[in-house]
Amino acid sequence: MKALVKTQKGVNFIEYKEIPEPKPGFGEVKVNVKACGICGTDIHIWKDEFQNIPPVVLGHEFSGVIVELGEGVTGLNIGQKVVSEVMYQVCGKCQNCKTGYYNLCLTRKGLGWAVNGAFAPFTVVEAQYIHPMPENITFEEAALSEPLAISAYAVSEITGVKSGEIVLVSGPGPIGLLVMQCALAEGAFVIMTGTDADEWRLKVAKELGAHRIVNVQQEDLGKVIRGYNEIGADIVFECSGAASAVKSGIEVIRKGGKFTQVGLFGRTIEINMDLIVTKELRLSGVFSSNWRGWHRGLRLVRQNKILLKPVISHVLPVSEWAKAFELIESKQSLKVVLTPESK
Ligand SMILES: [Zn+2]
Ligand SMILES: [Zn+2]
Repeated sequence: MKALVKTQKGVNFIEYKEIPEPKPGFGEVKVNVKACGICGTDIHIWKDEFQNIPPVVLGHEFSGVIVELGEGVTGLNIGQKVVSEVMYQVCGKCQNCKTGYYNLCLTRKGLGWAVNGAFAPFTVVEAQYIHPMPENITFEEAALSEPLAISAYAVSEITGVKSGEIVLVSGPGPIGLLVMQCALAEGAFVIMTGTDADEWRLKVAKELGAHRIVNVQQEDLGKVIRGYNEIGADIVFECSGAASAVKSGIEVIRKGGKFTQVGLFGRTIEINMDLIVTKELRLSGVFSSNWRGWHRGLRLVRQNKILLKPVISHVLPVSEWAKAFELIESKQSLKVVLTPESK
């Protein structure tokens, strides 16, 4: 089969090449991949800014159909449409695993960077991380389940957004738009920010229900927010991975507010910790997701509270990966979904 492989450490070293088809081991399932979204992480691996253990097939945001069950697998069927979490071989024994936060397992391996992922016609995953695909969406839409799980986890579990709260989301990319929809589902008042380069993405945010969109290069964000709450935003979700958005987020958040960092920077940035102290902010990160995020995200999809289609801007064959990566780099896209060669 032909797969998109990171062949060795370093910048670039990505090839679309022939590799053997995988076999499911004990407790594993072989999935015929129908669609797989490109994640910011894939771009970071391309540039060697995120951990990776080559040679490895990239891609972890996928949907597909079960074609083979490994030994010991029960409760799943051949022909079943599924999505999957991205864990592989978490230990089950460390403090984080034992308390349900297996996304933070100390020896965790993940699909698409440590073990072969899903930019290929077939991939193998552990049965315990499979979720049935919602019946009301397409394979392309279902490929957004993983970023949605992270978003639902960030909004409802890590941060605990409540109805009526003034929530600022910076960065109207795919994750930002999903975080925004999860916050709207919780009943928050959502302000989405972006820059001149994001104008068309801000329009999508508006169409998806943002109460207010702000181009921070054209408008004074602090003034806009004070119009809704004199002391500032209750919650900030920073989804752009831009240092300037962290700076302004910490400035416009109210004392006692919650700041959740969702985007990755790929480098060290400067941050005014004194503002965190004097405003008594609660600062959190979000790394991947666990069952709680998947369960909540997929429920919201089944209840039609999250629209995934408008978050997809392009669907391309895996063979056109280079064009797809460039589209993301140049900010001309939202989620780009790749479809493997059909077998
Ligand atoms: Zn991802
Ligand atoms: Zn563990």
